[in-house]
Amino acid sequence: MEFKELTDGVKIPVLGIGTWKMGGGLSADTTHDKECMFAIKIAVRLEMTHIDTAELYGNGHAEELVGEAIQEFEREQLFIATKVKQENLRYDDLISAAKRSLKRLRTGYIDLYLIHGPNPYTPIEETMKAMDYLVENKLTRFIGVSNFSGEQIKEAKKHAENKIVANQIEYNLLTRNRGQFTNSMESKIIPYCQKNGIIVIAYRPLAKGELAKPGIKLLDELTEKYGKTQAQIALNWLISKPNIVTIPKAVRIEHIKENLGAIGWRLSEEDMRRLDYDFPVNDAFYNL
Ligand code: NAP
Repeated sequence: MEFKELTDGVKIPVLGIGTWKMGGGLSADTTHDKECMFAIKIAVRLEMTHIDTAELYGNGHAEELVGEAIQEFEREQLFIATKVKQENLRYDDLISAAKRSLKRLRTGYIDLYLIHGPNPYTPIEETMKAMDYLVENKLTRFIGVSNFSGEQIKEAKKHAENKIVANQIEYNLLTRNRGQFTNSMESKIIPYCQKNGIIVIAYRPLAKGELAKPGIKLLDELTEKYGKTQAQIALNWLISKPNIVTIPKAVRIEHIKENLGAIGWRLSEEDMRRLDYDFPVNDAFYNL
């Protein structure tokens, strides 16, 4: 596995595993529990030890699946990230939400607790105080945000004792500056995070699978040149950028193994530039 520095010598793998749609969408669905837990275990065994989940996913059931799947591993081996819903950002609500997540995850601490998205109706000062409480009481090691703009991070930082170490945002070859919940990712948010030592966790790295199949000329051409698949090229482009790690979601074991083939090699600088500038970006992708 390759790693990047999260903060103060703490490293995280460049590839983790996402869990949206494991255990349901917005409500719990237990139909595929076994496959999902198996996928999480395989990913961890393959050193994709950053597991990304959220209280929102499957209405808590994704966290339950993670909690069950991780029982066979040493806790210190894992980097577990989960997120508090935007409606739980009041002080008491956030702390209670974190405690419920811990119970479902069957662990004593979270590695990275993220605010799932900004909520204009809750003062950020109150939210950050609760995030600080979690660190001080060792319920989480690190705090971060998701779907935040640079300005929103700046404001949140003013009210936090602890460092905001990560911003999880939608970012992939197809979605550059206009995502479902953020915009200006490439022109503003990522440069801000890179300048301020905040790691960017790119979500939807495969554009929900759109980037993991033939059909885009430049991507197809590079698969030939490097002997890699479309998904591997798309993930390599992300992790070749400073300060970016990513969390592809895959339940199918062949997908997990294929995604792992995105590491251990590099696209040339010229091909990175072609992907940066010549790729048919689809800023309307969020409608998919
Ligand atoms: P994604 O990772 O871009 O795509 C997942 C889809 O791609 C799944 O259908 C998966 O299929 C397929 N796939 C994975 N590897 C593949 C491969 N090698 N070849 C072909 N298909 C492949 O999209 P995502 O799940 O939306 O995003 C990743 C994670 O980011 C989520 O799971 C979640 O943890 C996080 N996220 C966070 C937010 C936020 O607001 N913070 C929003 C969205 C997502 P199978 O599952 O069938 O293998």
